[in-house]
Amino acid sequence: MIIFKTIKDIKEYLAFQRNNAVKIGFIPTMGALHQGHISLVDEARKVNAFTVCSIFVNPAQFNDSSDFDKYPSTVNEDILLLEKAQCDVLFLPSVSEIYPEGSAHTKDYHFGTLETVFEGAMRPGHFNGVGKVVAILLQIIQPNLLFMGSKDFQQCLVVQDLCKQMGINNSTKFVACATQREPDGLAMSSRNRRLNESQRAIAGIIYQCLVSIQGKALIGASFAIVKKECIDLLTAKNIHPEYISIANADTLEELSEYDLRIKMVVLIAARLGDIRLIDNLVINP
Ligand code: AMP
Repeated sequence: MIIFKTIKDIKEYLAFQRNNAVKIGFIPTMGALHQGHISLVDEARKVNAFTVCSIFVNPAQFNDSSDFDKYPSTVNEDILLLEKAQCDVLFLPSVSEIYPEGSAHTKDYHFGTLETVFEGAMRPGHFNGVGKVVAILLQIIQPNLLFMGSKDFQQCLVVQDLCKQMGINNSTKFVACATQREPDGLAMSSRNRRLNESQRAIAGIIYQCLVSIQGKALIGASFAIVKKECIDLLTAKNIHPEYISIANADTLEELSEYDLRIKMVVLIAARLGDIRLIDNLVINP
């Protein structure tokens, strides 16, 4: 695996690769890599893409600076994992390489309702920050394929919208990849490594709630009742839900009740101590 730290060097190298007619598969990450990230590299390799992964903890997408400060960094281990996964290139830029004049001086992106609900409502400015960094990275890498995880369901919709706004949705194919989970169902996340033993032991309940909400949709239950059961279950274990919601899976318009005529998604954000976890499941009638 070749590691690049500057935009100039990686652009030159990828231009050369493009001349060799390889298709470039891009996997943007914030590091502290786990099997969820590696599954994206595997997906890219399955379609014979030349795999480019980036690790950049993007300050512009953290509305809470203490969350940014606490974000785990494990670059040496990340490099070993990527090498084992046979990733071809790692882009590891500094903050000043991406934002030479500060992130406030880069183009803002807006996503309408998509940026005001759920994660957008809880983390004001978050998706504008995601838009800024992903746009810069896409301009540098110019991938044929962009691999992102469905674990961040709203982010997938936002980035697909970004690609449209940038006019690259035909040249860069968006590939949404399945959420990788621990044996108890907990979605893999860089933040999981901050859970203590007792928090980790109960964190799988978030997934149990998703499965229950998904399953009960299909037997004609009332979402309001199922939601209340989940809130009670989580709070009894000291897990504090920020939202437990169902929405139209295409628009993220929130639904007060199940609507089996449309594709829905159930979304949960919850806090265990100061660690915030998100997860989702699609409900396909
Ligand atoms: P992050 O480093 O958290 O910004 O994530 C980088 C990419 O990995 C994003 O596209 C995430 O959706 C994806 N990802 C994170 N966790 C998982 C997971 N458990 N399964 C699949 N993809 C994931």
